[in-house]
Amino acid sequence: MHRIFCFFMALAFVFLPFAAFSEEAADPELAFGGNLFLVNREHPIGKDDYPRDLVEPKVLGGGEATRMRPEAAAALEEMFAAAKEAGLYLAAVSGYRSYGQQTAIFARKLEKVDRQTAMRTVAPQGCSEHQIGLAMDLGTKKETRLSTAFGQTPEGQWVAANAWRFGFIVRYQGKWEAVTGYADEPWHIRYVGRDHAKRIYEMDIPLEEYVALRSESYEVTMDEGESAP
Ligand SMILES: [Zn+2]
Repeated sequence: MHRIFCFFMALAFVFLPFAAFSEEAADPELAFGGNLFLVNREHPIGKDDYPRDLVEPKVLGGGEATRMRPEAAAALEEMFAAAKEAGLYLAAVSGYRSYGQQTAIFARKLEKVDRQTAMRTVAPQGCSEHQIGLAMDLGTKKETRLSTAFGQTPEGQWVAANAWRFGFIVRYQGKWEAVTGYADEPWHIRYVGRDHAKRIYEMDIPLEEYVALRSESYEVTMDEGESAP
């Protein structure tokens, strides 16, 4: 793991010339409420750690179950509109999930499969980034059941190639399972904001590694090389 980290550190120097070293650890992007806030099994959050500003995105499938934070919802609307222009019909399936909902989902999964399998596919309560209102599970107009088959649909392929343009990353890719702890989920996108999404897409690394790079070694100067959303 340490060697991998050093490797990505080296990559960062090559590809992120705008990165600057700083001793200051305070980084609002990495804090709760920031677009890079990390939630996973190693970084669980509490029952009351959820955003109070959730809204329903005005997209196909949008409603109570697909609430997101306002910035992410607006970006999702733009992304769906762009897909539509390409003749593709995405559907929102699942956005914000409360700690309580996550508890019930995990318990239901455990009734069907063993714990190890459940852990690979479902997050225990407090470990899902759906709880911070920045994640969305996608389907298509024809198919809203979540499955890896989404990755082979024209919509799924469009999302993999274009989500970054709207500030989203395809969060759990099969090649990163050792880092993320999740099997391939081509349907799950996470909002991180456009600049970060572009960098993460170009670097082709999981959010865990991007956050480690950012928090441990440098602060990106936010007033240089940034484009307005
Ligand atoms: Zn998801």
